[in-house]
Amino acid sequence: MEGCIFCKIVNRQIPSKIIYEDDQVVAFEDVNPQAPVHSLIVPKRHIATLADMGDEDYPLISHIFKIANRIARDKGISDRGFRVVVNCNGEAGQTVFHIHFHLLGGRQMHWPPG
Ligand code: 5GP
Ligand code: ZN
Repeated sequence: MEGCIFCKIVNRQIPSKIIYEDDQVVAFEDVNPQAPVHSLIVPKRHIATLADMGDEDYPLISHIFKIANRIARDKGISDRGFRVVVNCNGEAGQTVFHIHFHLLGGRQMHWPPG
């Protein structure tokens, strides 16, 4: 989508540290990490928010969780603990409107999140 920063990352129009890619998703390191591990997993197809997902999109979410699990394992945080977070719309703090799944770990997490 025109002007979307994560579409630009997917299309290599702006640089990022890409750690995984397949036909459906791209994963890359967050530019402003909130934990020692902070990666973002995004679908290649532009979907603005979780609330915009249609019935046909749910297999994609399943795939994204599979990749999140794989990255967590590769980064050695599976057993220690990690979090997968989707911020949806304004009150949740979503700032980039191309759906993305935060994979966070490598430090003690707190609950509830702020
Ligand atoms: P949100 O607040 O929408 O859930 O998360 C957006 C995330 O995208 C933030 O953690 C932010 O640091 C990250 N981010 C924003 N712009 C860029 C960018 O240009 N490159 C990368 N790698 N991450 C970005
Ligand atoms: Zn996009």
